[in-house]
Amino acid sequence: MKRIVVGNWKMNMDLKQTATLITRLRTQITNPTAKVVVCPSFVSLVQASEIISSQKALLELGAQNINDNDEGAFTGEVSGPMLKGLVGYAIVGHSERRIVFMESNELIARKVAACIRNKLTPILCVGENTNERQEGLAKRTVLDQLEQNLSEIIPSEASKLIIAYEPVWAIGTGVNAEPYDVEEMALAIYHYLVNKYGTETADKIPLLYGGSTSGDNASSYLAINKIGGLLVGGASLNYKVFSSICQL
Ligand code: PEP
Repeated sequence: MKRIVVGNWKMNMDLKQTATLITRLRTQITNPTAKVVVCPSFVSLVQASEIISSQKALLELGAQNINDNDEGAFTGEVSGPMLKGLVGYAIVGHSERRIVFMESNELIARKVAACIRNKLTPILCVGENTNERQEGLAKRTVLDQLEQNLSEIIPSEASKLIIAYEPVWAIGTGVNAEPYDVEEMALAIYHYLVNKYGTETADKIPLLYGGSTSGDNASSYLAINKIGGLLVGGASLNYKVFSSICQL
């Protein structure tokens, strides 16, 4: 399976900065060892898509969020049908959405279903917080999130998923998870998926790691058994660092 590296730009980069960053990535990423997906803000997606197609960049686009409904009176929201054709992926269940926007596991399950219904690949983020890890509840938390967030996904749809393990305490903090802890969690997630969907399907679901990844530590996470790529936040805004991660 080809490695996948996703850049989550979060609420950064205006239109001009988006154009500059995409153009620089296009120039720097000439030999990617991974499928490269960048996730700018909603307002930048159309422009990013135009630059990518005109410059034949080796980049794909993802959205940072999606509404669980396909249309209607949901002021300020963006739906799957609006994103279809513009992006191939949508990040769902990011810890910032779970914590800051208080998204529940039930809502996240409906967002995963909205992605599948609209032929977008959901990048479902799961991860424990500091207390849960300290209390020995990390695995239970992550597997419980998966159980709830995948409740609407039937086996024939499961191979379209991407799962990102992102411990909350490692996101944007500069605190690095130990690769053996990441491996332990990746194996737990893999075995969960095998039990739920069977080995053949589980083998098709990429597992990414995310949490303060950088040019210095990316290789050590990419070397982990069952980890098939990275979800990169802060470091994806630096074209030199992000390009190097995509070409490791
Ligand atoms: C993220 O936003 O998903 C993330 C992993 O951020 P960072 O790499 O900055 O920790």
